[in-house]
Amino acid sequence: MKLTVIGTGYVGLVSGACLADVGNDVLCLDLDAAKIRILEDGGIPIHEPGLLDIVRRNVEAGRLAFTTDIERAARHGEIQFIAVGTPPDEDGSADLQYVLAAARNIGRHMDGYRVIVDKSTVPVGTGDKVRDAVADELAARGAHLPFSVVSNPEFLKEGAAVDDFMRPDRIVVGADDERAIELMRRLYTPFQRKRDKLVFMDVRSAELTKYAANAMLATRISFMNELANLAETLGADIELVRQGIGSDPRIGWHFLYAGCGYGGSCFPKDVKALIRTAAEHGRALQVLGAVEAANDAQKHVLVDKIVRRFGEDLAGRRFALWGLAFKPDTDDMREAPSRVLIAELLRRGASVAAYDPVAMREAERIFGDEPRLTYAGRPKSALEGADALVIVTEWKEFRSPDFDAIRGRLRQPVIFDGASARSRARRRRRRRCGRGA
Ligand code: NAD
Repeated sequence: MKLTVIGTGYVGLVSGACLADVGNDVLCLDLDAAKIRILEDGGIPIHEPGLLDIVRRNVEAGRLAFTTDIERAARHGEIQFIAVGTPPDEDGSADLQYVLAAARNIGRHMDGYRVIVDKSTVPVGTGDKVRDAVADELAARGAHLPFSVVSNPEFLKEGAAVDDFMRPDRIVVGADDERAIELMRRLYTPFQRKRDKLVFMDVRSAELTKYAANAMLATRISFMNELANLAETLGADIELVRQGIGSDPRIGWHFLYAGCGYGGSCFPKDVKALIRTAAEHGRALQVLGAVEAANDAQKHVLVDKIVRRFGEDLAGRRFALWGLAFKPDTDDMREAPSRVLIAELLRRGASVAAYDPVAMREAERIFGDEPRLTYAGRPKSALEGADALVIVTEWKEFRSPDFDAIRGRLRQPVIFDGASARSRARRRRRRRCGRGA
């Protein structure tokens, strides 16, 4: 099938590459010429395990191409995926300007029937806005071309995105007409060889399903974070509590780790947007309001502990910080807890030596020329002369640290672990190492 994917970010590029990998002819459009240049030069603009291989393989096979040419993109695919960003507006609602611009571009240049598939996470009712935007453009040029609007929210996780796309738990498709349903069924047949994973529904329900999923996951995280704080106060071990409740099939094991608060490009903005949608319709989502407040507070927990240990004024202090990305296996730092922590440490006069396996370039872009924030080539070099180590992101390489080497390099043997210590043995050793969190 001939497909166009609009937006070559985490969702668009993964979707485009994976759809090409099962034999489709995919053209990916982005307005960011720098991204398209990287892709045309054989690279990828993001860190995502396994993605580079799949992109290269499909480019070489002639099934995957990149462009900044809007007209060419609109004419290429019978199915047009919109996978552009939907960042939070000032009031927390999803900013639809990129989605609607993409829709207008399709309407302006399409030359036959199109299924316009919204993969971006968008509030309920956006399907109607996309339909109006395309219809307006067609009317403006006096064209009478049929099209369908479909909602196909994406559930991939950064860090495991290729696998998630190739082996999805479910594929949600919101569609209101038979022609579109048939095309979507054909499109996704290669991804559901073992069982039927397609869940068809109306467009509005599909739009809400994506928010419901992210809101539920964010709720679990905030719940566990609050319980972890309480456990610490009570002298209980949250890791044991996790094991005690995860074995209950009604609860399950996933998303039960406590940490520094959820971040990334999805949970914070999607929780906000859902609260906003409800408010616009006169409904208060009280649980989600608390989830958000607990998360904002959680991002300050490490700073509070550091201040308890070293005092309010951190001038002259130096901290080694391991982990910048909002979670392991990605370079994404959108809404990452590390950003709050770094900003607060710098504001209090401290300097920070940071290490992350892949996100340091992104941190440099975000923090610019900040003289008190430096980057270390290796985790150990960040420790030299630091007053304490702060672990923020649970990268695999931080799971079993060499405590003797850490002790030898730090000025004081203190570790603040915000990455949810997973093994009791590790924590016992850590306690021997110092009095950190
Ligand atoms: P992103 O910011 O990484 O990528 C978006 C891309 O769209 C950018 O490269 C941008 O230049 C491009 N773009 C913007 N307007 C355009 C236009 N009119 N034409 C062509 N290109 C345009 O975003 P992302 O993380 O891939 O997220 C995209 C959507 O998918 C969001 O709604 C997000 O909530 C949702 N989503 C993201 C994830 C995730 O893990 N990142 C998972 C599921 C759903």
